[in-house]
Amino acid sequence: MDTIKDNFTWISGPCSAESESQVINTARELSERIPLSYYRAGLWKPRTSPNSFEGMGATALPWMKRAKEETGVKIITEVATAQHVELCLEYNFDALWIGARTTTNPFSVQEIAEALRGVNIPIFIKNPINPDLSLWIGAFERFQKVGLTDLSAIHRGFSVANKLPYRNKPLWEIPIEFKTQFPHIPLICDPSHICGNRTLLRDVSQRAIDLGMNGIMIESHPDPDNALSDAQQQITPAQVAEMDKSLHYRSTFLTSNSAQKLQSLRDRVDALDADIIDLLGKRMDISREMGALKKEEGITIFQLERWKEILESREAWGKSANLTETFLSAYLEAIHKESIRAQNGVMNKD
Ligand code: PEP
Ligand code: MN
Repeated sequence: MDTIKDNFTWISGPCSAESESQVINTARELSERIPLSYYRAGLWKPRTSPNSFEGMGATALPWMKRAKEETGVKIITEVATAQHVELCLEYNFDALWIGARTTTNPFSVQEIAEALRGVNIPIFIKNPINPDLSLWIGAFERFQKVGLTDLSAIHRGFSVANKLPYRNKPLWEIPIEFKTQFPHIPLICDPSHICGNRTLLRDVSQRAIDLGMNGIMIESHPDPDNALSDAQQQITPAQVAEMDKSLHYRSTFLTSNSAQKLQSLRDRVDALDADIIDLLGKRMDISREMGALKKEEGITIFQLERWKEILESREAWGKSANLTETFLSAYLEAIHKESIRAQNGVMNKD
């Protein structure tokens, strides 16, 4: 039976190109260990602080070219300006990616698209930093308008409040909606920038595969702890290979149109349920904090005025979300009981 593994895109390599030997050795190791589609390394790094390592820039161009010549890997890097595009084309890059910060800015995307007019090179577009699906789609439209056809999407999570335990929250609902609207655009997951650490990488990658995503972009460094950027989330080429072996690839047996539609709806429900449960957990954490505060201040747990206020506001919210009154009051009752239980638990401790 076919599985998505048959047509899977693996993009791997260091967050940043740091030295010629690091670039070439990592390319060699990865290409020997996994079915590498593209070898990645960042040359121009968008960093939060100008005091962080900002990449080797054009100095690393010949290193990437050598990695390609010596190992036969295809090479890809991030471009953020028209000048980056020109340099990469000069050095025979096989593909380019647009970083999350760049996708956020339509002026930059337009500038890059103009620089690529008439050059049909594969482009991978990361989602914007903020959870804005239309901005992501807008970037695709800008490249399509200048005639580029080989476009793929990279899901790298979103910078939102309450993003823990992630560095960028996956908000799976957004890539699923993307896939629903554009089923023919390959969608790749970047677990490295979603997780920000090594422990969650495998779970996030498996989730992406379970949702039917078409590939993984993962950062890999020969000595992750001493990487000059994103040290906490990088893994060695050997660990990438181990992860590849441990992943379960779903078969693409859903051939009929309606079965596929049903699966896509189920995926969306799963993603939403995961978010709802996560939020409920966070809500109970706050209840426990309130319990502790009330204990300290000697206040009673149940406050009638507050409860009335909760009922009124939530009922109005429920109405605008098309929820029935019966359902909403049962839900609020359950939440309220659980919240009091959580607060009581704290109050009665020691
Ligand atoms: C990267 O891939 O190294 C990178 C900077 O990613 P992002 O644009 O997703 O933050
Ligand atoms: Mn990185």
